[in-house]
Amino acid sequence: MTESKNPETLALHAGYRTDPTTGAVAVPIYQTTSYQFDSAEHAANLFGLKELGNIYTRIMNPTNDVLEQRIAALDGGVAALAVGSGQAASALALQNVAQVGDNVVSSTDLYGGTWSLFANTLKQQGIEVRFVDPSDPENFRRATDDKTRAYYAETLPNPKLHVFPIREVSDIGREFGIPLIMDNTAAPIICRPFDHGAAVIIYSTTKYIGGHGTSIGGLIVDSGTFDWEAHPARQPLLNQPDPSYHGAVWVEAVKPLGPIAYILKARVTLLRDLGPATSPFNSFQTIQGLETLPLRIREHCRNADAVTEYLSRHDEVAKVIHPSLQGGEERRRADAYLTGGYGGLVGIELKGGLEAGRAFIDALELFYHVANIGDARSLAIHPATTTHSQLTPEEQLATGVNEGYVRLSVGIEHIDDIIADLAQALDKAVAVKAAA
Ligand code: PLP
Repeated sequence: MTESKNPETLALHAGYRTDPTTGAVAVPIYQTTSYQFDSAEHAANLFGLKELGNIYTRIMNPTNDVLEQRIAALDGGVAALAVGSGQAASALALQNVAQVGDNVVSSTDLYGGTWSLFANTLKQQGIEVRFVDPSDPENFRRATDDKTRAYYAETLPNPKLHVFPIREVSDIGREFGIPLIMDNTAAPIICRPFDHGAAVIIYSTTKYIGGHGTSIGGLIVDSGTFDWEAHPARQPLLNQPDPSYHGAVWVEAVKPLGPIAYILKARVTLLRDLGPATSPFNSFQTIQGLETLPLRIREHCRNADAVTEYLSRHDEVAKVIHPSLQGGEERRRADAYLTGGYGGLVGIELKGGLEAGRAFIDALELFYHVANIGDARSLAIHPATTTHSQLTPEEQLATGVNEGYVRLSVGIEHIDDIIADLAQALDKAVAVKAAA
């Protein structure tokens, strides 16, 4: 087949043509725990990483492998690792380079669960995460010391929807030998972080990639462009003998297999030891979503643009948050990094505050009230009392959540129906305000 770089084609074809034994065109669900070795030598070679292949489904699986190859092709990376959730992806992405006594510099603008992982669980494991305001990329440099092992950020973080300065921060990182890890969950296809210098991408596939609200999952994608070997003191976990793998030095051991030291290490040490594997059935569901992602994301963007325009003209709406309404440096970043559209998320603050926000959410009929984004269906939530409720009020404000804010994840229903639902819910919210 002619090699294509077009996302619509890659999403359907990368990593798989037909099943070699049956000719099946849809990717089969290889629901097996283990794999017969050809010989004792074959088994020894697989365990010794002399060749890559299937050993045990906690570590690799042929259905998961198609998902991994397909996302790597779409993002322009060299390899990927499928894991059980987006949370597992962000945890493993950092644990792969940082150990007790090390630190990571992260943007403050994060999903609440990621914040909690960084501020509590990684801290308990001895990895300090230093949170910095991403509006000034130089904050990353200021927080860096000789124990800093990675930078971390989200491409399109809600609620602020301020696009992260990917190129600026990845350039600072590359000066120091520090990889930038981007959570691209809210902007697959429309942003390609590797084109702007990021070293690693993580996803919650639970959102746009799966797209149908059926399966929790995560992915880590390796760009293959980060020179781990050039920074032995900065990146000891990739450059020093690993006692968990017969003293393997990852940058050396993996060289014959290509620039995949980072992602292979994550697979054969962290996935092996901690075990957050994804099931082949979930990967199958995620692949079904991925196959239409380029088309869906276009519709999400188009509908969110129209919703933004409608809400901006509505008398009862105090504020609409969407990249298309931003100016100055924020808008420049949105236009530089979101090359395929502004995404499907829209924030809204109602003039009636908390009570009106609650009444609005309760009145929605088409929109689902759920703790999720990126479903083909339209979704809404009040973050202060749900997704961000385990954060302190100060932490909530730092991530940009205030009590009147409602998050919309605009789906791919007909735009007239989406706007009709918003209109009737706003009418009801106004009635609540009038009665108060
Ligand atoms: N990253 C972002 C931006 C998210 O929105 C989420 C979940 O909402 C996650 C990571 C965590 O993903 P999961 O729920 O699949 O563990």
